[in-house]
Amino acid sequence: MTHVTGGCHCGAVRFEAEGDFSTGLECNCSHCDKKGFVLAFLPRPDFKLTKGEGAFTTYHFNRGAIDHNFCKTCGTQAFGIGSGPDSKEMAAINLRCVDGLDRSKITIHPVNGKDF
Ligand SMILES: [Zn+2]
Repeated sequence: MTHVTGGCHCGAVRFEAEGDFSTGLECNCSHCDKKGFVLAFLPRPDFKLTKGEGAFTTYHFNRGAIDHNFCKTCGTQAFGIGSGPDSKEMAAINLRCVDGLDRSKITIHPVNGKDF
């Protein structure tokens, strides 16, 4: 398990997370593709918002199952909250928003979200 910190571009929204960040998911669905996400999913308790309650707003689409939270000031979406297939709450971290993470060293797995 690795402990990481991260946040949006302007610094209004900050988080801490525990997990394995050696791999990332790149989904080709209409939303992920436009935003260019590299994502890591973790159990909600392993994600902590350390700054920015009230500083972000939420985008919903499709079934509205995921809270896509983006900073009201800079527009960066550092994380989302949703529930997995077993209805357990999950956090999705945008690995592009993790401090000092060298994405050239992580394994990227493509996800075919477009066809779901
Ligand atoms: Zn921001």
